Amino acid sequence: MTVKCSKCNNPAIIRIGYANLNLCKEHFIEYFESRFERIIEKYKMLEGSKKVAVAVSGGKDSTTLLHLMNKIKDKYGIELIGITIDLGINKHESKYSAKSVEYAIKNYELLGVKYKIVKVSEDYGFTIDDAAKKLRRPVCSTCGLTKRYILNKVAAELGADTLATAHNLNDTAQFVFHGYFSGDVENLARLRAIAPAEKGFIKKIKPLFLVPEKEIATYAIVKNIPFITDSCPYVALRLGSRSQTILRRKIEEIEDELPGFMAYLVENFENKIRPALEKEYGIKEEEKEGHRCKICGMPTPPGRDICSFCAIRLKLTSAINTI
Ligand code: SF4
Ligand code: ZN
Ligand code: ZN
Repeated sequence: MTVKCSKCNNPAIIRIGYANLNLCKEHFIEYFESRFERIIEKYKMLEGSKKVAVAVSGGKDSTTLLHLMNKIKDKYGIELIGITIDLGINKHESKYSAKSVEYAIKNYELLGVKYKIVKVSEDYGFTIDDAAKKLRRPVCSTCGLTKRYILNKVAAELGADTLATAHNLNDTAQFVFHGYFSGDVENLARLRAIAPAEKGFIKKIKPLFLVPEKEIATYAIVKNIPFITDSCPYVALRLGSRSQTILRRKIEEIEDELPGFMAYLVENFENKIRPALEKEYGIKEEEKEGHRCKICGMPTPPGRDICSFCAIRLKLTSAINTI
């Protein structure tokens, strides 16, 4: 039997368990877009923002975020600019980075959003494939550091005052759970949906942090948003990948049995637990002073002459050049 939409007579395409709703395509789009805006409003994410850089990898989450931000930009009086990083991932001839960049560009052009593509090999002299081959450290850790560094740097260079990234509710719930499980209080204290401009960095926001992955994927499909469906060839090497995968699966199973579980977990963390942790383990006053890397000029913690990215880059480029 076809399940009907809770708001009209059309067939439902999705069940929103935590809101006890079955929705047809039109009502789902309406629900999804207005919920996105309610989150932006509730957490005052765009207060004081004039130019927002959106990090677009080409996957479903970031391309959806770009479309949603583009929809609300006039209402909030913001200018948008997209940033996409070509990481140079081509393991097993997968062309993963080339394809990801292609999808990001398709979306920028579809929406008429200005963008910048940063090619890591051209600007920094290495690729993530090089990092996988030449460094002993886990490739995803180098990749994550590289992405964070470039996004922060390039967004500021482009004159953006805010950087928006597409972490979804499942990612955030997994991170919170994993933080509890491993007792990583410092990272938990710094896991924020909105990080104000500090330590020489611009403001950062995560507008999808309360939006379930299933809803994002459904929205991207019904709106015909082009996105890459291939997985990164290094995904299996993610640090703690076995425990992370199990935790994520279990969290999603609990959500099925107890709709709203992930949102409660993350909202209670954001609103009640993190502020308490922040007092003890948050960013220290001395870290806010704005020490700078002697090589690139980006902020670096006190007592460090060069930033972690420059340190890795030096190591990697010298390994590449001494074959
Ligand atoms: Fe980078 Fe690892 Fe993600 Fe691949 S799976 S894009 S290497 S962080
Ligand atoms: Zn309907
Ligand atoms: Zn540096």
